[in-house]
Order: sequence, then C-alpha cells, then structure tokens
Amino acid sequence: MNKKSAKTFEADVVVVGGGVTGTYAAELFAKAGFQCILVDKQVRGRTGAHWINGVPLFMLKEAGLGRPPVDCLYGAGDPFILVPDDSTPDARIRVQSDELFDVDMRCYGEWFLRRAEEAGVKLHFNTSVKRFDLNKAGGPRSASCTTGKDNVKYHAKLFVDASGLAAVVRKHVPFLKRNCPVPQPSELCSASSYVYSIKDKAGARNYMRRHHFKAGEILAFSGTHGNFSIFRIQIAKDLSQVAFLTGTLAERHYPHSRKLLDAFIQEHRWVGSELFGGSRLIPIRQPYSHLVHHGVALLGDAACQNYTIHGSGIGIGLVAAKELVDAVTKGANARTLGTRRNLLKYERNFHRKWTGHLCSAEAIRRFVTGMPKGKMDGLLASGALSEALIESVLSQKKLKPKAADIAKHVKAIKAHPKILFDVAPLLTSSFLAALTPKLLSRLGWRNHDPLMKRILGVADKRKQITQSDPQQSDQP
Ligand SMILES: Cc1cc2nc3c(=O)[nH]c(=O)nc-3n(C[C@H](O)[C@H](O)[C@H](O)COP(=O)(O)OP(=O)(O)OC[C@H]3O[C@@H](n4cnc5c(N)ncnc54)[C@H](O)[C@@H]3O)c2cc1C
Repeated sequence: MNKKSAKTFEADVVVVGGGVTGTYAAELFAKAGFQCILVDKQVRGRTGAHWINGVPLFMLKEAGLGRPPVDCLYGAGDPFILVPDDSTPDARIRVQSDELFDVDMRCYGEWFLRRAEEAGVKLHFNTSVKRFDLNKAGGPRSASCTTGKDNVKYHAKLFVDASGLAAVVRKHVPFLKRNCPVPQPSELCSASSYVYSIKDKAGARNYMRRHHFKAGEILAFSGTHGNFSIFRIQIAKDLSQVAFLTGTLAERHYPHSRKLLDAFIQEHRWVGSELFGGSRLIPIRQPYSHLVHHGVALLGDAACQNYTIHGSGIGIGLVAAKELVDAVTKGANARTLGTRRNLLKYERNFHRKWTGHLCSAEAIRRFVTGMPKGKMDGLLASGALSEALIESVLSQKKLKPKAADIAKHVKAIKAHPKILFDVAPLLTSSFLAALTPKLLSRLGWRNHDPLMKRILGVADKRKQITQSDPQQSDQP
C-alpha cells in the first residue's frame, strides 16, 4: 500500500505506547465513554517492561487498583538487605515491606492489555508512529504510522504520549520539544533486570554463605560501581533460579548495567542460562513542567514521571494515568477533550499532588549520588538513617517519620552532631523540592524547571556522552 492509499483510523483518543501506563490510560478513557485506540510498535507480548519490577501497594491504591494478580507476582514482602559501599556485614540494613510487590511484567502487562480490550479499546500492535501532521496551534492532528510494509494514519482529538523514552509525540510537537529537553546522560539510569537458571546449587549455597544471606532474601550492594550503582541478587527458595537487577548512571565513565551483570556471570559458574529479562535506560530527573499542549498529553517515562531513587516508573505512571483521565474527562465531550484548556487540568493536578513528592525523592537521589565513598556507612552506623525511613523510600511513600523515629534521629544527632551538617543540605533541598511545584502551580506559574534545577543543584552537562552498548537492544 503506498502513502496515498494509507488506511485511516479515527478515534477520540489515540494512546501511543502499550506499556502499562499507556494501556491503563486507554482502559480508563474507554470506560469514561471515549473511543480509544492504542498503538504500539511491538508485537503483543513485547510491549513495555517485560522483566521484574517492584511496584508499591500505596501507588496502586492511588491509581484505583488493588494488589497485582497473584499469578503475576515474582515475590512479595521479601526481606531486603542493603549493603552500602560493598562494606562489612555489620553495616548492612535489613528492611521488609509487605506493601511492595515484585511483579513479572510480562504477565502484568498482558493483564492490563486484556482489561483494556474488555473496556472496548482497539489494540493495534506492530504499528510504529513515525511523524505527525500539526494543526494551526502546533498540536498533533494526525499520526502517520507504518505497520509491516503498510502505511496507516490516525486522526484523534487527543494523542497521549506513553511511548517511554522514545517520546515520539513529544519530540514531534515543537512546543514540547522546546520545553521538555531530552534527558542528559546524568539524568538517565542504565538498568538490567534478568532471571537466570541455577546449574550448580552447591555453588549458589556457597555464594550465599560468603555473603551472609539466605535463599528468598534480596541482597543489594549499592555504590560498588560508582555512585547510584546497584547490584541486586535474589536466589529463589528452591534454588532453581536467580534474579538480578543492576543499575548505573548512564554516563560513559560508569560500567554499563548489562556488562556489570555479564562480568558477574562470567565469574560465577553456578549461574545457568538466561530465562527472561531486559536492559534499558530510565529517565531519572524531575517530571517536565509542561505535560500538555493542544491535543497532546505526556505520560509515564515520556513525561519523566519517575520515583528516581530507584528508577521506578510503574507505580507513578499508573497514578498519572488515573490523574490524566480523571482530570480531562470530567465534563468534557469528544470536541473539548483535547483542548489545551481542558488538558491543563491534568498538568495542574499532577504537579500539585505528585511532582513535589517525586522532586523530594530526586533531592535524596542527588544527595546519595554525590556522597563520598564510606559516608553512607557512617550515616547508617550513627542511626541517623532508620529502617522505617529506608522502608518508606523502598515503598515510594511520602516521608512522614513517626514520633519514635524522630526520637531516634534526634538521639543519633546528639551523639554525632556533625551529622546535622552532613544532612542539612539534603533536608533543605528535599523540603524546598517538595513544596515548590505545588506553590508555583497554585500561583499559575507553568514553568517550574529553572527553579527546580537550582534547588536540586542540576548542572548543565549537555556535552556528556551517554554509554552506548550494542547489547542494549531495547534502548529507544
Ligand atoms: C531493567 C529495568 C528495571 C526496572 N525496574 C523497575 C522497578 O522495579 N519498578 C518500577 O516501577 N520501574 C522499574 N523500571 C522502570 C519502568 O520499567 C519504566 O519506568 C516503565 O516501564 C515506563 O512505562 P511507560 O509505559 O511510560 O513506558 P514503556 O514501558 O517504555 O512503554 C513504552 C511503549 O511505547 C512503545 N513505543 C515506543 N516508540 C513507539 C513508536 N514510535 N510507535 C509506537 N509505539 C512506540 C514501546 O514499544 C513500548 O511498548 C525498570 C526499568 C528497567 C529498564
């Protein structure tokens, strides 16, 4: 089929990207009575995340969802042992949260796709969005796509960009392209999550003995390969398989997350063959100020909606999907749905309710990333970082220390007054980061980016080079 005879589809909403955030938004639009088409360049079964992701119950509830289906769980509430700076067993901290699920995203993604289908969403896989025709206001009017050798065209009142880091709509709409800069290498995390079989159980047992942890527990070494790096390992209780998560900043001088894993596997012959997993970049910066323009709304990784301390985008992406649909469908019809005025309700609501939380988490990430080696050990040893605090961060909750914890922190500071000087910049920046987006949004100020950069101490490092690795096949 040539361009002239391209097949045309029309809908109220076209969601670009069938990861869980886009799929959930599509389901909610259909349930609100709008015709919705979801397009994804991948075939069914390969859309979005297809590895193991940690998802907190708190965010699922905020998104109007419950616990993930039992058959999609890889683990739930497993003990988590943090080993800062590859230090001695004494400096470890052990936390357990019943409110955090490790989810097999292959199953969870399909669960969302089925729900969307049942709600009446038309799913178009193997359909890659290539470019947009713009209307007079500079918003998208139609999307030109390829599916196999064919060209297809989509007309819609609203295009939702849920295409992850590819951000295919954002990059084609001049206003958003100008105001939503592509994340710099220092704002990207290279992450790999894989499950392998175990071919030598005795070898696995030996490894656990040497590193003082048990089957079923999660051991996480942090800061071993540059700040913000993580090497997480969990050996299944029946010793049949081992799950890895590796992550590093995507700047060239840090090792690639996949290479880190390959080196481990090379060295540990008890690890068998790869079962499933994936490698990709995750945006780790504050959400964009501008989340909408005429006929377009950004969602998930495309909007940099991420709890950056551990690069988690699933929970907050689902929350954002609900915020988007709730805000823009209320009192709207097919004609008014995609107007800028209507879409701004989503932008305002999201910034008032969530951006402060994400920015204060980003302040903690930056503080930890910039910490000299050994400093984390000191903080843990002093008692200034409580288990409750670490559990809250793991579960992505808003930090509300309980009275008993505050007493513990005060005691630690009395015993080691120097800690106060160490953590003062963090307390200030996370407090300001939590308040600023809400405040600016209430004042009707749309662009909080420059102020947030100052608060978070973001330097412009545009000349940095991102890691490149042929193995990062999933990379947009
Ligand atoms: C190894 C790893 C581990 C992670 N662990 C966690 C975790 O534990 N917890 C957590 O919350 N998050 C985790 N994340 C992050 C999480 O996976 C992402 O934040 C999340 O998947 C983002 O969802 P999304 O729907 O915005 O985008 P995606 O899941 O990236 O989906 C985007 C979709 O858009 C499609 N697309 C792209 N371009 C086009 C185009 N031109 N046309 C049509 N379709 C297109 C893609 O095929 C894809 O299906 C992890 C990420 C990685 C890489």
